[in-house]
Amino acid sequence: MPVGPGRLGVLGWPVAHSRSPAIQEAAFAATGLSGWAYQRLPVPPHLFAETVRALPQSGFVGANVTIPHKEAALALATDATTTATAIGAANTLTFEDGAILADNTDGPAVLELLRGVLDPAGRRALVLGAGGGARAAVWALMQAGAQVEVWGRTPARAAALAEALGARHAADPGHAEIVVNATSVGLDPNIDPFKAFPLKADTFETGSCVIDMVYGPGETRFLEAARSQGARVIDGLEMLLAQGVASFERWTGKMAPRMAMREAITTSPSP
Ligand code: NAP
Repeated sequence: MPVGPGRLGVLGWPVAHSRSPAIQEAAFAATGLSGWAYQRLPVPPHLFAETVRALPQSGFVGANVTIPHKEAALALATDATTTATAIGAANTLTFEDGAILADNTDGPAVLELLRGVLDPAGRRALVLGAGGGARAAVWALMQAGAQVEVWGRTPARAAALAEALGARHAADPGHAEIVVNATSVGLDPNIDPFKAFPLKADTFETGSCVIDMVYGPGETRFLEAARSQGARVIDGLEMLLAQGVASFERWTGKMAPRMAMREAITTSPSP
């Protein structure tokens, strides 16, 4: 059931980089929804659960959840969609009659974005990362029939994720036609992703598909390298739009104004 009108926000740590407020505010304006507002909610992990439980008392009807809280968000929810449960993480919370409902729009967003680029069925895919975003990417690729390897900085965490979702943990991944960066590497443009990952900058194949969930003021160094070798790239802003459209529709019950949201992404100043 849709909720509102009311306050919404994005819970993260850090969250200053998030452009979710820009796209959601643009969506309220374009659909003539008054009484809705969306803001950044910087919350450290040790305060996450108590903050979320207090939000409805301050007029909040829902929230997006980003780094590093997506698994914690599912854990504290009183109910969850089958998608969020299968992924093991939530990026969209809805507060309704004392309940906290968890959904995940990241996984379906990855499926939607891949649909326009290549069919993952039977292809080798590599997901870098072992957090909430990685869970969504692995779930989506498994749903689409890919053979998925997961690499993580903390091998035990990546192995647990792979086992939970039916993928394969790879300490030393092989070549892949689909590569997803679902780590936070790239948020700091000064960090060389190819020092953080078990990949060389020249390993991308022409015609492969590379997704970077991270977005910043310009193209990430990861996507720059992939694009320069002929890979088809999907950036974090496309991902932000796709997951944000689904969250907006979940909260308001209205069709999201994609054009206005896309325009807000391209015109909003980088925070
Ligand atoms: P998370 O749950 O905190 O997971 C972050 C992952 O990054 C962890 O696996 C962590 O490794 C890894 N990591 C951090 N620093 C690293 C480094 N120096 N080298 C290698 N790995 C490193 O966060 P999340 O929610 O999955 O989000 C991950 C990123 O994706 C964030 O930047 C987020 O903004 C982005 N994202 C964007 C969208 C979008 O709509 N564009 C959607 C989802 C996610 P450990 O396991 O060792 O801690």
